[in-house]
Amino acid sequence: MSYFEPTLVNPLNEDPALLIKIKNEKRSFLVDCGSLYRLSYRDMQKITHVFITHTHLDHFIGFDSLIRANIGLDKTLHFFGPKFIARQIHCKMLGYTWNLLCRENLKIKIHEIDMEELSEMALFPSDCFQQCHILEKQSLSNNILYREANFFVTYSRLQHKIPCLGYAFTEEERWHVDKKKLEAFEHAPGTWLNEIKEILETRTRVISIKVEDKEYSMSYLQKCLFEKKPGQKIAYITDTIFNEETLANSIELAQSADILYCETHYAAEDIAKAKDSYHLTTQQAGFIAKNAHVKKVVGFHFSPRYRLSRIPNLQKEIEDSFKK
Ligand SMILES: [Zn+2]
Ligand SMILES: [Zn+2]
Repeated sequence: MSYFEPTLVNPLNEDPALLIKIKNEKRSFLVDCGSLYRLSYRDMQKITHVFITHTHLDHFIGFDSLIRANIGLDKTLHFFGPKFIARQIHCKMLGYTWNLLCRENLKIKIHEIDMEELSEMALFPSDCFQQCHILEKQSLSNNILYREANFFVTYSRLQHKIPCLGYAFTEEERWHVDKKKLEAFEHAPGTWLNEIKEILETRTRVISIKVEDKEYSMSYLQKCLFEKKPGQKIAYITDTIFNEETLANSIELAQSADILYCETHYAAEDIAKAKDSYHLTTQQAGFIAKNAHVKKVVGFHFSPRYRLSRIPNLQKEIEDSFKK
């Protein structure tokens, strides 16, 4: 069972925004913040972490909608993004008047990535978001940006004439029931199976457990019924020029991902336009996906210059290059 449920918010030739719902939890992550009018208030209120690649209008225009849905809630919204993201978020917040806020309100924490350094800053409702409070700086290692017990988030530098980042979300290895072993086990499956899985995944120290009326050691049940398998990995790459360095960075970021969401702003024949505007073509996205050995590539952020009816052909260009 996967922990992440990713969905692109908008059609493939509209603004980039990827909603990643966290299964069995009432929270989601958002990658890029293009137009969000297709999301309900409820969807936006569940978002806790936002990962911004860069702040071109079509990747950041949903910021105001997100704040509007969350203002009034006693929660913290985390934003991750490249150099200058703190200044840009602060300037956006200063653009409105917040004199009617109560203290128990939305807090904004900003995590700005510059080279291998992470600076953390915060905006508080208590001073009507007037000050950008500097919290701490830390060095990043192995490109790991954020970690929780069940997953971690990595980033990679892309080249788009401005600071721009790609992101990957990787679940830790997870315990799975081995069906064949379960069939041979002397008890029929029951709620006890989920209890054991929970103990293994939360790494709780339990020596023995009762299955129906019989006591077993945890190490015996673990060996006898479970196996560890890699978790799901989702990578997100947009926007970037295709060159030796971005190819290497993209391959490293998306390595063995289950799904790679990759910008495909231009058709293969428009390679010169892609180079001029620091974007990828369908063929280049397929090439990245193939060399990163991903299981599936989803092209998105097609230029609005292409009609929707042309998108199946563009998707075929990606697939042909991916499977070549
Ligand atoms: Zn851009
Ligand atoms: Zn873009």
